[in-house]
Amino acid sequence: MKRMRTQVGIVGAGPAGLVLSHLLHLSGIDSIVVENRSRDYVIGRVRAGVLEQGTVDLLVKNGLGERLLREGLRHGAIQLCFHGRRHRIDFDALTPGRAITVYGQNELVTDLIAARRASGRPVYFEVENVRVEDFDSDPRIRFRFENQEHEIACDFIAGCDGSHGVCRPSIPAETLRIFERDYPFAWLGILAAAAPSSDELVYALHERGFALFSMRSPSVTRLYLQCSPDEDVEAWSDERIWDELAARFENGDGWLPRRGAILQKGITGMRSVVVEPMRRGRLFLAGDAAHIVPPTGAKGLNLAVSDVSLLARAIAAYYHEGREDLLNTYSDECLRRVWRVQRFSGWMTSLLHRSSDEFDYRRQLAELDYVTSSRAAMTSLAENYTGL
Ligand SMILES: Cc1cc2nc3c(=O)[nH]c(=O)nc-3n(C[C@H](O)[C@H](O)[C@H](O)COP(=O)(O)OP(=O)(O)OC[C@H]3O[C@@H](n4cnc5c(N)ncnc54)[C@H](O)[C@@H]3O)c2cc1C
Repeated sequence: MKRMRTQVGIVGAGPAGLVLSHLLHLSGIDSIVVENRSRDYVIGRVRAGVLEQGTVDLLVKNGLGERLLREGLRHGAIQLCFHGRRHRIDFDALTPGRAITVYGQNELVTDLIAARRASGRPVYFEVENVRVEDFDSDPRIRFRFENQEHEIACDFIAGCDGSHGVCRPSIPAETLRIFERDYPFAWLGILAAAAPSSDELVYALHERGFALFSMRSPSVTRLYLQCSPDEDVEAWSDERIWDELAARFENGDGWLPRRGAILQKGITGMRSVVVEPMRRGRLFLAGDAAHIVPPTGAKGLNLAVSDVSLLARAIAAYYHEGREDLLNTYSDECLRRVWRVQRFSGWMTSLLHRSSDEFDYRRQLAELDYVTSSRAAMTSLAENYTGL
């Protein structure tokens, strides 16, 4: 058995765990990160790509902005496409100084792993059989690494291990409340080698269903189609995907996504989950380990960063000022934001996804008409989309 000691043991090297380890390092607090996947796998996962203004500001302020500011694509608007027309929601006019930045999660994770390396502190990749124990009194993380048992003794454990991790299930179920909602649709997502044909994201509601045009870089487009949760991805040839996208983005000005080789395709289910509270003793949950939002509002990654910035502040106040008040309010503070984001993501989802109900469809079109013609409604959308 190899025994180690640190101040904060972090489970999971996704955005939440890596941002937390970086913020703690900048505050002079030691941590060890354990991750059950390989470094390449963690970097290669294609997921989120929209950063809110507050996320960008936090990353830049903490020395993680160099490549983000150079290569990230700043967007001052999004578009809503329905009834054969595209409408702009102009963030620059509605919420001056606030925009979104398109920067792939895998780029961000690459930068975070590089920052962690530069700090000289470890991330253990490809660990096995992770357990979190004794977190009410004397926290420990145990795991196997290179065929040897390891134990980390720590003051706090940060459960940043996503929606299928071990930290949340280790908390006695009777002490947690879990709120869940499943949606009756999913997204078929593709990554295509095609230069974006729009500088802005385009959300579409069409009789045939929802579609989203987004991008990852000046040469790679990311597109999504509403589909059923049990859709067989193999039933979607490249040609069928492009034809369906063209049908759903149909509009009077002739704009269409540019076609290109499809590099990757997959189905993403949609659900909402909130775990309350986000703490048990000295174990703190953050990011997807504590909550999931449907991707329509582009919030999952941003929420994860917001959680760990509060957690890092609370842990720093504990070590540097002997205060526990911020640790005690951590869960409530996070949950206030989480529920506001659930509200917005749920609203975007119900606004833009097609059910078989014709009444609903007409009501959605009327709401889109309102959202794109009332300055108050557009401002509300812009405020929420660029970040509360
Ligand atoms: C398929 C998919 C597509 C998505 N698309 C979007 C999108 O388009 N827009 C958007 O805003 N959000 C999207 N999201 C959500 C967004 O990616 C997440 O909210 C974000 O990754 C949360 O970061 P996290 O660090 O909390 O969790 P994760 O990124 O899930 O990181 C958790 C880490 O913990 C590791 N781990 C798990 N179990 C263990 C264990 N037992 N021991 C050690 N390590 C463990 C995992 O391997 C992972 O590296 C998507 C999510 C998925 C799953």
